[in-house]
Amino acid sequence: MPELPEVETIVRDIRPALLGRRFDRVSLSHEDVLRGVSRRRLVRGLTGATVHDVSRRAKHAVLDLGTNRLVVQPGMTGSLVVHPRPLAGHDRQYAVLRAQLDDGRELVYRDVRRLGTLLLLDARGWERYDRAIGPEPLDPGFTPERLGAALGRSRQAVKKVIMDQKHLAGVGNIYANEALYAAGIDPSKAARKLTPEDHRRLHAEIRRILQAAIRSNGTTVRDYRTGTGEEGNFQLELLAYGREGEPCRRCGSRLTGTHTIDARITVFCHRCQS
Ligand SMILES: [Zn+2]
Repeated sequence: MPELPEVETIVRDIRPALLGRRFDRVSLSHEDVLRGVSRRRLVRGLTGATVHDVSRRAKHAVLDLGTNRLVVQPGMTGSLVVHPRPLAGHDRQYAVLRAQLDDGRELVYRDVRRLGTLLLLDARGWERYDRAIGPEPLDPGFTPERLGAALGRSRQAVKKVIMDQKHLAGVGNIYANEALYAAGIDPSKAARKLTPEDHRRLHAEIRRILQAAIRSNGTTVRDYRTGTGEEGNFQLELLAYGREGEPCRRCGSRLTGTHTIDARITVFCHRCQS
Protein backbone atom coordinates (compact mmCIF):
# COMPACT_ATOMS: atom_id res chain seq x y z
CA MET A 1 0.00 0.00 0.00
CA PRO A 2 1.34 3.44 -0.79
CA GLU A 3 2.57 5.09 2.41
CA LEU A 4 3.03 8.76 3.35
CA PRO A 5 5.80 9.62 0.82
CA GLU A 6 3.98 7.98 -2.08
CA VAL A 7 0.66 9.70 -1.38
CA GLU A 8 2.45 13.01 -0.72
CA THR A 9 4.11 12.65 -4.13
CA ILE A 10 0.78 11.93 -5.83
CA VAL A 11 -0.84 14.93 -4.11
CA ARG A 12 1.99 17.31 -5.09
CA ASP A 13 1.78 16.07 -8.68
CA ILE A 14 -1.98 16.35 -9.18
CA ARG A 15 -2.61 19.45 -7.05
CA PRO A 16 -1.68 22.12 -9.63
CA ALA A 17 -3.92 20.53 -12.27
CA LEU A 18 -6.92 20.28 -9.93
CA LEU A 19 -6.95 23.52 -7.92
CA GLY A 20 -9.96 25.63 -8.83
CA ARG A 21 -11.17 23.16 -11.44
CA ARG A 22 -14.71 21.84 -11.61
CA PHE A 23 -15.78 18.24 -12.22
CA ASP A 24 -18.06 18.20 -15.23
CA ARG A 25 -18.71 14.52 -15.78
CA VAL A 26 -18.11 11.75 -13.29
CA SER A 27 -18.34 7.98 -13.68
CA LEU A 28 -17.57 5.01 -11.49
CA SER A 29 -16.98 1.50 -12.88
CA HIS A 30 -17.28 -0.53 -9.66
CA GLU A 31 -18.93 0.11 -6.33
CA ASP A 32 -16.75 -2.22 -4.28
CA VAL A 33 -14.21 0.58 -3.67
CA LEU A 34 -16.80 2.77 -1.97
CA ARG A 35 -16.99 3.05 1.82
CA GLY A 36 -20.03 4.58 3.45
CA VAL A 37 -21.27 6.19 0.25
CA SER A 38 -23.45 4.94 -2.58
CA ARG A 39 -22.56 5.32 -6.24
CA ARG A 40 -25.44 7.72 -6.65
CA ARG A 41 -24.38 9.98 -3.80
CA LEU A 42 -20.74 9.94 -4.87
CA VAL A 43 -21.47 10.84 -8.48
CA ARG A 44 -23.95 13.50 -7.44
CA GLY A 45 -21.56 14.90 -4.82
CA LEU A 46 -18.69 15.18 -7.30
CA THR A 47 -20.50 16.40 -10.39
CA GLY A 48 -20.32 20.18 -10.60
CA ALA A 49 -18.11 20.43 -7.50
CA THR A 50 -15.04 22.69 -7.50
CA VAL A 51 -11.71 21.55 -6.07
CA HIS A 52 -10.76 24.00 -3.31
CA ASP A 53 -7.70 22.12 -2.13
CA VAL A 54 -5.77 18.87 -2.52
CA SER A 55 -3.88 17.59 0.49
CA ARG A 56 -2.72 14.45 2.25
CA ARG A 57 -3.70 12.93 5.57
CA ALA A 58 -1.80 9.78 6.61
CA LYS A 59 -1.84 7.56 3.48
CA HIS A 60 -4.85 9.23 1.86
CA ALA A 61 -5.28 11.93 -0.75
CA VAL A 62 -7.95 14.43 0.24
CA LEU A 63 -9.81 16.60 -2.26
CA ASP A 64 -11.58 19.45 -0.53
CA LEU A 65 -14.74 20.20 -2.51
CA GLY A 66 -16.22 22.80 -0.19
CA THR A 67 -19.12 20.97 1.41
CA ASN A 68 -17.64 17.50 0.95
CA ARG A 69 -14.25 15.89 0.89
CA LEU A 70 -13.31 13.08 -1.44
CA VAL A 71 -10.84 10.82 0.35
CA VAL A 72 -8.85 8.42 -1.82
CA GLN A 73 -6.89 5.63 -0.19
CA PRO A 74 -4.93 4.14 -3.06
CA GLY A 75 -4.53 0.42 -2.50
CA MET A 76 -1.50 -1.59 -3.52
CA THR A 77 -2.51 -1.39 -7.19
CA GLY A 78 -4.14 2.06 -7.15
CA SER A 79 -2.97 5.21 -8.94
CA LEU A 80 -4.34 8.73 -9.15
CA VAL A 81 -3.37 10.66 -12.27
CA VAL A 82 -4.62 13.72 -14.12
CA HIS A 83 -4.60 12.96 -17.84
CA PRO A 84 -4.41 15.74 -20.44
CA ARG A 85 -7.55 14.44 -22.16
CA PRO A 86 -10.32 11.93 -21.37
CA LEU A 87 -9.17 8.33 -21.55
CA ALA A 88 -10.20 6.39 -24.61
CA GLY A 89 -10.12 2.78 -25.74
CA HIS A 90 -7.74 0.42 -23.98
CA ASP A 91 -6.50 3.16 -21.59
CA ARG A 92 -9.85 3.00 -19.86
CA GLN A 93 -9.15 -0.47 -18.53
CA TYR A 94 -9.05 -0.57 -14.73
CA ALA A 95 -10.14 3.07 -14.49
CA VAL A 96 -12.46 2.94 -11.49
CA LEU A 97 -13.29 6.63 -11.04
CA ARG A 98 -13.14 9.09 -13.92
CA ALA A 99 -13.86 12.76 -13.36
CA GLN A 100 -13.68 15.07 -16.34
CA LEU A 101 -12.47 18.56 -15.49
CA ASP A 102 -13.87 21.77 -16.93
CA ASP A 103 -10.63 22.32 -18.88
CA GLY A 104 -10.91 19.00 -20.71
CA ARG A 105 -8.45 17.07 -18.57
CA GLU A 106 -9.49 14.00 -16.61
CA LEU A 107 -8.75 12.84 -13.10
CA VAL A 108 -8.59 9.05 -13.05
CA TYR A 109 -8.38 6.66 -10.14
CA ARG A 110 -7.16 3.41 -11.61
CA ASP A 111 -6.97 0.24 -9.54
CA VAL A 112 -6.30 -3.16 -11.12
CA ARG A 113 -7.31 -5.22 -8.06
CA ARG A 114 -9.54 -2.56 -6.53
CA LEU A 115 -7.90 -2.77 -3.10
CA GLY A 116 -8.18 0.98 -2.58
CA THR A 117 -11.14 2.85 -1.14
CA LEU A 118 -13.06 6.02 -1.89
CA LEU A 119 -14.98 7.99 0.71
CA LEU A 120 -17.10 11.10 0.42
CA LEU A 121 -17.29 12.87 3.76
CA ASP A 122 -19.21 15.92 4.89
CA ALA A 123 -17.69 18.28 7.48
CA ARG A 124 -18.72 16.15 10.44
CA GLY A 125 -17.68 12.91 8.80
CA TRP A 126 -14.30 14.39 8.00
CA GLU A 127 -13.82 15.63 11.55
CA ARG A 128 -14.52 12.15 12.90
CA TYR A 129 -12.25 10.57 10.33
CA ASP A 130 -9.40 12.98 10.99
CA ARG A 131 -9.69 12.63 14.75
CA ALA A 132 -9.28 8.84 14.55
CA ILE A 133 -5.85 9.20 12.95
CA GLY A 134 -2.66 9.91 14.92
CA PRO A 135 -0.22 12.81 14.49
CA GLU A 136 1.46 13.58 11.17
CA PRO A 137 5.17 12.79 11.55
CA LEU A 138 6.26 15.71 9.34
CA ASP A 139 4.18 18.32 11.17
CA PRO A 140 6.33 20.82 13.09
CA GLY A 141 4.36 19.94 16.24
CA PHE A 142 5.44 16.31 16.10
CA THR A 143 8.19 15.97 18.70
CA PRO A 144 10.12 13.04 20.24
CA GLU A 145 7.87 13.50 23.28
CA ARG A 146 4.75 13.05 21.14
CA LEU A 147 6.24 9.91 19.64
CA GLY A 148 7.01 8.69 23.15
CA ALA A 149 3.41 9.39 24.15
CA ALA A 150 2.14 7.46 21.11
CA LEU A 151 4.31 4.47 22.00
CA GLY A 152 3.20 4.89 25.59
CA ARG A 153 2.78 1.82 27.70
CA SER A 154 2.11 -0.55 24.85
CA ARG A 155 3.43 -4.08 25.25
CA GLN A 156 3.19 -4.48 21.51
CA ALA A 157 6.22 -4.52 19.24
CA VAL A 158 7.39 -1.00 18.45
CA LYS A 159 7.08 -1.78 14.74
CA LYS A 160 3.40 -2.60 15.11
CA VAL A 161 2.71 0.54 17.10
CA ILE A 162 4.38 2.95 14.66
CA MET A 163 2.45 1.32 11.79
CA ASP A 164 -0.86 1.68 13.62
CA GLN A 165 -2.55 4.72 12.05
CA LYS A 166 -4.28 5.71 15.25
CA HIS A 167 -0.88 6.18 16.90
CA LEU A 168 1.10 7.62 13.99
CA ALA A 169 -0.08 8.70 10.54
CA GLY A 170 1.32 7.50 7.25
CA VAL A 171 3.99 4.98 8.24
CA GLY A 172 3.56 1.50 6.77
CA ASN A 173 5.76 -1.54 6.44
CA ILE A 174 8.50 -0.16 4.22
CA TYR A 175 9.23 2.98 6.23
CA ALA A 176 8.79 1.25 9.60
CA ASN A 177 11.49 -1.23 8.61
CA GLU A 178 13.77 1.53 7.35
CA ALA A 179 13.30 3.85 10.33
CA LEU A 180 13.90 1.13 12.92
CA TYR A 181 16.99 -0.04 11.07
CA ALA A 182 18.37 3.49 10.86
CA ALA A 183 17.60 4.11 14.54
CA GLY A 184 19.22 0.81 15.60
CA ILE A 185 16.07 -0.38 17.35
CA ASP A 186 14.90 -4.00 17.34
CA PRO A 187 11.46 -3.99 15.62
CA SER A 188 10.14 -6.65 18.01
CA LYS A 189 11.00 -4.66 21.16
CA ALA A 190 7.98 -3.79 23.31
CA ALA A 191 7.10 -0.14 22.63
CA ARG A 192 7.03 0.71 26.34
CA LYS A 193 10.66 -0.37 26.77
CA LEU A 194 12.00 2.38 24.56
CA THR A 195 13.94 5.09 26.38
CA PRO A 196 13.66 8.85 25.75
CA GLU A 197 16.93 8.55 23.84
CA ASP A 198 15.31 5.84 21.64
CA HIS A 199 12.34 8.17 21.06
CA ARG A 200 14.67 10.95 20.00
CA ARG A 201 16.55 8.73 17.54
CA LEU A 202 13.47 7.05 16.12
CA HIS A 203 11.67 10.39 15.75
CA ALA A 204 14.63 11.85 13.85
CA GLU A 205 14.98 8.80 11.59
CA ILE A 206 11.26 8.56 10.78
CA ARG A 207 11.27 12.19 9.68
CA ARG A 208 14.57 12.02 7.83
CA ILE A 209 13.57 8.89 5.88
CA LEU A 210 10.06 10.10 5.01
CA GLN A 211 11.50 13.39 3.74
CA ALA A 212 14.20 11.61 1.72
CA ALA A 213 11.56 9.31 0.23
CA ILE A 214 9.39 12.29 -0.78
CA ARG A 215 12.43 13.84 -2.48
CA SER A 216 12.81 10.58 -4.45
CA ASN A 217 9.09 10.53 -5.35
CA GLY A 218 8.40 7.49 -3.17
CA THR A 219 9.20 3.79 -3.43
CA THR A 220 8.07 1.65 -6.36
CA VAL A 221 8.33 -2.01 -5.46
CA ARG A 222 5.69 -3.10 -7.95
CA ASP A 223 2.68 -1.02 -8.86
CA TYR A 224 3.04 2.38 -7.23
CA ARG A 225 3.10 5.29 -9.68
CA THR A 226 3.41 9.02 -9.01
CA GLY A 227 0.67 11.50 -9.92
CA THR A 228 2.24 11.77 -13.37
CA GLY A 229 2.37 8.00 -13.92
CA GLU A 230 6.11 7.58 -13.28
CA GLU A 231 7.90 5.15 -10.97
CA GLY A 232 9.37 6.42 -7.70
CA ASN A 233 13.09 6.12 -6.95
CA PHE A 234 13.45 5.50 -3.23
CA GLN A 235 13.61 1.70 -3.75
CA LEU A 236 17.23 2.36 -4.76
CA GLU A 237 17.96 3.80 -1.32
CA LEU A 238 16.32 1.17 0.90
CA LEU A 239 18.73 -0.29 3.45
CA ALA A 240 16.48 -2.88 5.15
CA TYR A 241 13.19 -3.51 3.34
CA GLY A 242 13.61 -6.09 0.56
CA ARG A 243 17.20 -6.88 1.60
CA GLU A 244 16.70 -9.98 3.79
CA GLY A 245 19.69 -12.32 3.45
CA GLU A 246 21.86 -9.51 2.10
CA PRO A 247 24.73 -7.95 4.07
CA CYS A 248 23.97 -5.13 6.51
CA ARG A 249 25.44 -1.94 5.06
CA ARG A 250 26.71 -1.00 8.50
CA CYS A 251 28.28 -4.18 9.92
CA GLY A 252 28.22 -6.74 7.12
CA SER A 253 26.07 -9.31 8.97
CA ARG A 254 23.33 -11.01 7.01
CA LEU A 255 19.99 -9.19 7.45
CA THR A 256 17.21 -11.31 8.94
CA GLY A 257 13.71 -11.51 7.46
CA THR A 258 10.83 -12.59 9.68
CA HIS A 259 7.03 -12.66 9.65
CA THR A 260 6.63 -13.26 13.39
CA ILE A 261 6.00 -9.62 14.44
CA ASP A 262 3.04 -8.99 12.17
CA ALA A 263 1.75 -10.53 8.96
CA ARG A 264 4.24 -8.44 6.99
CA ILE A 265 7.89 -9.00 6.31
CA THR A 266 10.22 -7.46 8.86
CA VAL A 267 13.89 -7.09 7.90
CA PHE A 268 16.47 -6.20 10.50
CA CYS A 269 20.10 -6.61 11.55
CA HIS A 270 20.43 -8.72 14.71
CA ARG A 271 23.73 -7.02 15.47
CA CYS A 272 22.93 -3.33 14.84
CA GLN A 273 19.38 -3.31 16.21
CA SER A 274 18.66 -3.96 19.88
ZN1 LIG B 1 24.31 -4.56 11.03
